[in-house]
Amino acid sequence: MALSIFDIFKIGIGPSSSHTVGPMWAGHRFLNDLREKGILNSITSVRVGLYGSLALTGKGHNTDKAALLGLAGYRPDNIDPDAADQAFEDIVNKGVLKLAGEQEVSFNYDTQMIFHYGEELEHPNGMRIYAADQNGIVVYYKTYLSVGGGFIICADEFNAPAGQGGQVNSGAPTVPYEFKSAAELLALCTEHNLTIAELALANEKALAGGDMEAVNAKIDAIWDVMRNCIERGLRMEGALPVSNMQRRASVMYKQLMANPEAMLKDHFAIMDWVTLFAMAVNEENACGGRVVTAPTNGAAGIIPAVLAYYTRFNDSSEQGVRDFLATAAAIGMLYKMNATISGAEAGCQAEVGSACSMAAGALAAVLGATVHQVENAAEIGMEHNLGMTCDPIDGLVQVPCIERNGMAAIKAITATRMAMRGDGNHAVSLDSCIETMYRTGLDLQSKYRETSTGGLAVFAKPQCVA
Ligand code: SF4
Repeated sequence: MALSIFDIFKIGIGPSSSHTVGPMWAGHRFLNDLREKGILNSITSVRVGLYGSLALTGKGHNTDKAALLGLAGYRPDNIDPDAADQAFEDIVNKGVLKLAGEQEVSFNYDTQMIFHYGEELEHPNGMRIYAADQNGIVVYYKTYLSVGGGFIICADEFNAPAGQGGQVNSGAPTVPYEFKSAAELLALCTEHNLTIAELALANEKALAGGDMEAVNAKIDAIWDVMRNCIERGLRMEGALPVSNMQRRASVMYKQLMANPEAMLKDHFAIMDWVTLFAMAVNEENACGGRVVTAPTNGAAGIIPAVLAYYTRFNDSSEQGVRDFLATAAAIGMLYKMNATISGAEAGCQAEVGSACSMAAGALAAVLGATVHQVENAAEIGMEHNLGMTCDPIDGLVQVPCIERNGMAAIKAITATRMAMRGDGNHAVSLDSCIETMYRTGLDLQSKYRETSTGGLAVFAKPQCVA
């Protein structure tokens, strides 16, 4: 199966795609297996094991909560974020979990939610779920790997060679313009005289059985969620969970709104707005709110911020928004197919770097760039994030994540502008930059890959301001 735009952009809840959205889907998949085997109603207890980064940063990323809510039958794309907290507390406090909302099983959080610190499965984000019958005998268990962006695969799928159900894009062609690299994508665009968005949308139409209206409606829904997330983030006040740090987007928003004339004199005021849009989304994400993986939750603010820059500060159109998201998704697919979008696999360059690259290319596309300038913008967007580590303080997707999204959104716009000043010719291809990111990520010590055992997570000291 070829990747879809909606594999890259998925509606979910914060704070993490790999640590929250993925584990919730894993719980869901486990329920489906129990149903298929006809044993759901004979299960009397379950146990969840978290491994690698899911164990080390699972509490800060709500992995435990997500896995249990998935087993209770909730889905990331339609769960009410406000109801999620209460549902989780009920499970922990009452010691009862209703599998799929129907089969009551006992659940002792202290003994049945196990954080395997220091142990890793086939991937840095591993989890295993066990189901036992009334005799206490484990009648079914499954290992899941959360490989970034909310994608969940079973361990056997991860190990299968390409073409035998292994990782993404291993099946027969199902789209008119199949591509696996940026070079192939550009060649197809040139050969068929298509923009990247036109190509991606033609593929999406084929995946949707020819129903272009349905595709457009789904893309519009993605933008709606992104836009609502910005709006909510601008208004919400108070503290972020666990850290109790104050939210800043609403403060910045009030400052900007209080003095709109200043924008006429300050040429960089637009940068403040873009930074604000990104931070608003990531504060919502940190609070477990409704966000779109773009391509992950930790990096969820960059693409909405740059798209909001396009709609608010440029001549924009409804089709332009669709083209933006289609182009961004096509670039995101290159990262997903040839490298990774998982911070646990390759550090923050894989999350924020990929999002910056996607946003830069997409913005160039809707501002009228050639496909080669788009590729150039996407390459610049990644090149200057290479080597960026993932070291969230206390395992929370807050510091450095929230500010980092603002910085990357600005960087994406700069990358677009640099590329559009050129003619598309440039020294480093997007393909080689993607490969460099991946290989650099593999070289990173695990303490810099979403384990909160290095970098800021270890050396940052609290700062008191009088
Ligand atoms: S540092 Fe980057 S990759 Fe790590 S959790 Fe934060 S945003 Fe995600």
